[in-house]
Amino acid sequence: SLEVTGVELAFGNNKVLRGVNLAVPAGHTACVIGPSGSGKSTLLRAINRLLEPDAGDVLLGGESVLRGDADVLRRRIGMVFQHFNLFPHKSVLDNITLPLRKIKQLDIEAAQSAARAQLELVGLAHKAGARPGTLSGGQQQRVAIARALAMKPEVMLFDEATSALDPELVKGVLALMADLAQTGMTMVVVTHEMGFAREVADQVAFMDQGVVVESGVPEQIFTDADSPRLRQFLAQVL
Ligand code: ATP
Ligand code: MG
Repeated sequence: SLEVTGVELAFGNNKVLRGVNLAVPAGHTACVIGPSGSGKSTLLRAINRLLEPDAGDVLLGGESVLRGDADVLRRRIGMVFQHFNLFPHKSVLDNITLPLRKIKQLDIEAAQSAARAQLELVGLAHKAGARPGTLSGGQQQRVAIARALAMKPEVMLFDEATSALDPELVKGVLALMADLAQTGMTMVVVTHEMGFAREVADQVAFMDQGVVVESGVPEQIFTDADSPRLRQFLAQVL
């Protein structure tokens, strides 16, 4: 499980997170929606300690992630960004094996067999030897997902993983994310894809101005929202 309690975070005097609460039971997928600038990316960065909160706590399996070694923590949390951040001069296979060797200290055979297995799962075994730049955006994002999954994380965070993709490539990546949700991965998915939130999420959290204003099952959020701000947001995006 992942639990965010009362997380506050400011950049200078810009209070971006103002007491965020979010509880994601193990195996659940939470989608985070909300307007631009509401703090969604900042929240994901606080969860995996790319940023340090000023107050509050983040619990992974009941244990605070804010103490102890940040590198150890990041082995337990996979993150996928809008821009895939693959190494352009390394092969697809090397992009996946490098973190396994460096961070998990696997030997080359073990790293390569883990990487090939993961590439198989995302349907890209035939691209192992290719440079990322020769792949489509959707394929590159699937490699980035495979790279994160190869680390065997307990939780996966997605920050608008499909926003940079051409429309015809979005579906394949969303389908992969839906499959992953089906396998029981615990996921926090920041997305503008309301169809995905509606169909795949166990829970949808609406953020505005640095707080989770309302959260609930998709049915409730999309058809019976309490908050006027959420109703207004949905009227704009649906
Ligand atoms: P979007 O939907 O556009 O991605 P978001 O909900 O992810 O928006 P954040 O990126 O979390 O929003 O940004 C929230 C606020 O924090 C914004 O006002 C932004 O300018 C500010 N902010 C984000 N990162 C930084 C940073 N590194 N330094 C200073 N301010 C930042
Ligand atoms: Mg963002």
